Amino acid sequence: MEVIKAIAVALLLLLLGDFVATFAYHVPEHVFGKFHSIVHHSPQRSFVRYAIRHQKPIALIDGFLGAFPYFLFIPWLWGISNVGVTLGLGLAELHVIWRHQFSSSYKTPSIIQQICKCFCITTPERHWRHHQNANLAYGDIFTFYGKPAQVWLKNLRWLRKSVRRMGITRASGR
Ligand SMILES: [Zn+2]
Ligand SMILES: [Zn+2]
Repeated sequence: MEVIKAIAVALLLLLLGDFVATFAYHVPEHVFGKFHSIVHHSPQRSFVRYAIRHQKPIALIDGFLGAFPYFLFIPWLWGISNVGVTLGLGLAELHVIWRHQFSSSYKTPSIIQQICKCFCITTPERHWRHHQNANLAYGDIFTFYGKPAQVWLKNLRWLRKSVRRMGITRASGR
């Protein structure tokens, strides 16, 4: 029973974390933000290194906000299974490291590709597509967030355009 509870909590943490990270952080960052595109989509990817090198500690906030969705549900989930929370955070961290295997010599073994396809898990190859083109392949951990994320991206871009247009209309006194 405890094992099932731990697995369920770990899975819930990953599902909820990736959901909030995708829709409340990742997509809005690509529309309204700045540092995710500059830092995370660069070959270095380190917010700490960027903040030090460019003397912009504000970039650290973006880095923190990217991870925060995974911590958001800990107070609730910890009470159900602390082992599950630890497992979920460990898996999330391992997936971050794995999905950024961008070296040209890396190729996900076909058996793992099949497992990932079956469970809708993002592979490094898929995540690389997002790093190459920020319009594609959302869902850092789960691929099924990709399609709704693209709709969300379109809506937020429309919102940004409308707000800007309103600002221009007001400024010109029309
Ligand atoms: Zn990435
Ligand atoms: Zn991105």
